[in-house]
Amino acid sequence: MSIRKIIADKRDGRELSSDDIARAVQSYVKGDMSEGQMGALLMAIVLRGMTVAETTALTMEMVESGQRLDLTGIPGTKVDKHSTGGVGDKTTLVVAPLVASFGIPVPKMSGRALGHTGGTIDKLECIQGLTTQLSPDRFRAQIRDIGVAIAVQTDAMVPADKRIYTLRDSTATVESIPLIASSIMSKKLAVGADAIVLDVKFGRGAFMQDLASSQALARAMVEVGFQAGKKTVALVTRMEEPLGEAVGDGPELVEAIETLKGGCGGRSDFVELCEIVAGHMLTLGGKTESPKQGRKLARQGLDSGAGLAKFRELILAQGGDDSILGDPEMILRNAIRTPVESPNSGYITEIDAKRIGTISRDLKATWGESHRRQLCGVWLRIKVGEKVSKGEPLAHIISPPQPTVSASIVQAVQKAFQIGEQFQQFSPVLAEIIEH
Ligand code: URA
Repeated sequence: MSIRKIIADKRDGRELSSDDIARAVQSYVKGDMSEGQMGALLMAIVLRGMTVAETTALTMEMVESGQRLDLTGIPGTKVDKHSTGGVGDKTTLVVAPLVASFGIPVPKMSGRALGHTGGTIDKLECIQGLTTQLSPDRFRAQIRDIGVAIAVQTDAMVPADKRIYTLRDSTATVESIPLIASSIMSKKLAVGADAIVLDVKFGRGAFMQDLASSQALARAMVEVGFQAGKKTVALVTRMEEPLGEAVGDGPELVEAIETLKGGCGGRSDFVELCEIVAGHMLTLGGKTESPKQGRKLARQGLDSGAGLAKFRELILAQGGDDSILGDPEMILRNAIRTPVESPNSGYITEIDAKRIGTISRDLKATWGESHRRQLCGVWLRIKVGEKVSKGEPLAHIISPPQPTVSASIVQAVQKAFQIGEQFQQFSPVLAEIIEH
């Protein structure tokens, strides 16, 4: 079928065959389909949607466009995880080594910061000497030797997604469940794990603003995973306030290490999410019979230091300096902390994650060079549902000493906090679990 007919069929609401989809993706990658034609097809998909069969075909064809990792020679059920992105989301740094410490291999390819959300790779690279650029052979060898690797996604994997994503950005076609699902799942499937736990976030600080859209995205991704023969579970989770306390690359690494040391006690939505995600990963990996048992085991792995020991192995395998584990705060030793005081007394009813994420990203941009950028961020001193007195710190802005943090930045952080007279019950981080 001609490319023109494929576009017209989608425009008129007809279901495309997997051959049509393969033809379009292959032609686009080869340069036989113009940017304009792909733009038109993408817009038709945004307006008409795609069936599960079409979304799966698109995903598989994008996987075919580049290099795939072959992990079949590595024994055990390999389990991957993915988050659709949020503010303060350093979950991978904790759950990847934690799950691997129980003998479940975790091959993890991650990305860098996108918009107001942070990236796992930027956080991990705060560790002196550590590389995230692992060749496929080195990545595989590390999974075989220590059971876990966290590497940056290479351009050789799923090149079709890279090109299509750039085009989507410039043609206002990002907002489409099948296009988002195929973009995310193609990158997961190229890594070659046997099972995938998806953390699909919703709320002010997330890509999806409302529960219904995140449920629809979660369902689409779970279906694609199922059709591709992978055990896939999606956790629909809240992203209204930042996750945990730390936001920003260096600060988040510190909080992740403290969590692996069994710290961050009391109510922590971050620790709770780490336990839940790890619990599902352990269950998909066959270590426990239920996510509830998995969660219990995950907690034990944090308390015993097993997750921390595995993280040390990962740091050393990737060339990093493991002395950070003895004193994680040392990476912030050259930073100053500017307090943001509460303007009145009351209960915290909201903390705007998007605002905090944007401030943290802008702080990074202000202090250009990488070793100084790592210092930047916001450390929350209080969470939703907690009581505060006038003048107490709501947060500390973390930055290099010069130039000093301006009053307008302090005010912007202050405005992210809503303080009410009434106690506001916080909602649990997990809203729903979606499986096939
Ligand atoms: N993240 C991705 O990788 N792809 C999308 O389309 C949206 C978010």
